[in-house]
Amino acid sequence: MPGVEAPIVQELNIDAVAPGTIARLWLQVISDGLGQPVCIPVLIARGTLPGKTLGLTAALHGNELNGIPVIQRLFRNLDPLRLSGTIIGIPVVNAPSFLQQERLYLDGRDLNHLMPGRPEGSASEVYAHSVFNSFVGSLDYLVDLHTASSGRVNSFYVRADMGNPDTRDAALLQNPQIIVHNPPSDGTLRGAATLRGVRSITLELGDPQIFQKNLISAGLTGIQNLMVHLGMTEGVIVPPVQAPVLCRKSYWLYADEGGILTVRPNLTEFLEKGQRIASVRNIFGDLVKTYDAPEAGIVIGKSVNPVNHSGGRILHLGVV
Ligand SMILES: [Zn+2]
Repeated sequence: MPGVEAPIVQELNIDAVAPGTIARLWLQVISDGLGQPVCIPVLIARGTLPGKTLGLTAALHGNELNGIPVIQRLFRNLDPLRLSGTIIGIPVVNAPSFLQQERLYLDGRDLNHLMPGRPEGSASEVYAHSVFNSFVGSLDYLVDLHTASSGRVNSFYVRADMGNPDTRDAALLQNPQIIVHNPPSDGTLRGAATLRGVRSITLELGDPQIFQKNLISAGLTGIQNLMVHLGMTEGVIVPPVQAPVLCRKSYWLYADEGGILTVRPNLTEFLEKGQRIASVRNIFGDLVKTYDAPEAGIVIGKSVNPVNHSGGRILHLGVV
């Protein structure tokens, strides 16, 4: 295969990476049904001076791809001789689901509800445990990169605990369109890492299973801002073109009526209480039900799939 050879390793040993270099590794996390190693790609940049350790993860949901080129470009642009501290990048955390082009793990479970996993658990729990314990313990900061799920689209938004000064700064440095204050919840990579003392934020970069150039650039700029802020690299912090909208909470609105769903507002559009947001028609074209905003807010994400079973999602409303 072309390119630099990457050895298979059983564990990540940062001390084995020479200062001022970038290592490329295949980390074995489990074995498959043939007894073959299942590996994830890992990049480790070790600086020449002491500093923070920053973790970057993408494709924990296997069809959420925009974070992959963010991590690739960050390492491509990085001079480890001018780096203070260490960066660990995992461009594909959920390798089996990435290959299947699926969000969920092979057993149908969501790895981002199972962290930090269990060594004696189910297939997904064992995978989660192996990945989590391979790198999270060595981090000071973690940025976990996601997108919307299939059938939906997202703005560029950050989920972070805005009550913590460190994660608040990290969120603001991303220059997103929206920041949702969201104390870390159980089972997410961000939540489990936070419980281990790692300052963690989640970036939601657009839409699933595609690369979106503008969002990839925006994600890269935000992480580079964080690195400058943490003293890991020299440079200038790029200010936001427009201040992010800060939401104190957010929630999804659901359609209780099945049928053909049309969601009206655009991403990042401000809604007034009572504003019409969606309609459901039966397959003959008759209007069956309409939905209005229950309170004022901003559209963080929305459904773009017209085929709506009862209980389907309409839009993700952020409340300022
Ligand atoms: Zn995700």
